[in-house]
Amino acid sequence: MQILDGKKASQAIRDELKIEVAQLAIEGKKVPHLAAILVGNNGASETYVAAKVKACEEVGFKSTLIRMEADTTENRLLEQIEDLNNDPDVDGILVQLPLPKHISDEKVINAIDPDKDVDGFHPVSVGKMVLGTPTFLPATPHGIMLLLKYYKVETKGKHAVVIGRSNIVGRPMSVLLSGNGNPGNCTVTICHSNTKDLKEFCLQADIIVAALGRPEFVTADMVKEGAVVIDVGITRVEDDTRKSGFRLKGDVQYDTVAPKCSYITPVPGGVGPMTIAALMKNTFNSCKMKN
Ligand code: NAP
Repeated sequence: MQILDGKKASQAIRDELKIEVAQLAIEGKKVPHLAAILVGNNGASETYVAAKVKACEEVGFKSTLIRMEADTTENRLLEQIEDLNNDPDVDGILVQLPLPKHISDEKVINAIDPDKDVDGFHPVSVGKMVLGTPTFLPATPHGIMLLLKYYKVETKGKHAVVIGRSNIVGRPMSVLLSGNGNPGNCTVTICHSNTKDLKEFCLQADIIVAALGRPEFVTADMVKEGAVVIDVGITRVEDDTRKSGFRLKGDVQYDTVAPKCSYITPVPGGVGPMTIAALMKNTFNSCKMKN
């Protein structure tokens, strides 16, 4: 069993980007600039945005964090996005989800200029991804593809089972894995909360991507020997022994599943860091297109 170390792979990608950014600076060109908007002060969102801003600093990108109050109106947020759309210095715009209930995710995503949609959630980006046209790929599935590539995991002809069909993880993951590329060329089954006999599908899987947000949902009896298991889940569970009062759990029961796998991602340290690496790559590419 080999651990797919997201920290290591992510660091390798960020090291490459660092060199490319330094080169841009030497050539007197503009360096990438990511603008992140955080509405409210959800604890997990604060952590994710802080990690993204830190990653920008590390690779030499410019970053701007715009904090807005939880009771910000939808119109005010849309105006803020429009300002960033019109700012020629900004290459990538990220609005941290989830948003407060009174704000429509859909309106906000649709308001972002597709040329700056480094999260890859805009319908134009999604459409291009489905068609296999170059575009910004959604960061988490893109990060998983980069991780599979980094470890040269064979995907061609394999049966991949994706658990979860959200627009940000499960659905695009199924599209990318079934695409005609490397990694890719899988036969994909997508499961969700209405899937009957989910365990039977999982037992047929060469690759399982668990993205449902149910801690330790995938157990050893659901996994065949030699499978590749990608755990996307991150759930905060109470833990009084930690200073924070919580710890992170994945969707896979790691201790029992890992011994059966050929490859597995840990939580934390697997998919999470790859999501950030993919976001950095998207932002860099956005800047390069304009440079
Ligand atoms: P989501 O929007 O809540 O979607 C969850 C999906 O799982 C839905 O499609 C749902 O089915 C399905 N599901 C829920 N319970 C199920 C069950 N018992 N059996 C089968 N399918 C079930 O979640 P998400 O945004 O995709 O995120 C999923 C997990 O990944 C969360 O833990 C999230 O924190 C984590 N995540 C991690 C990263 C990272 O960087 N590592 C990034 C994004 C998300 P229905 O469609 O039928 O409701």
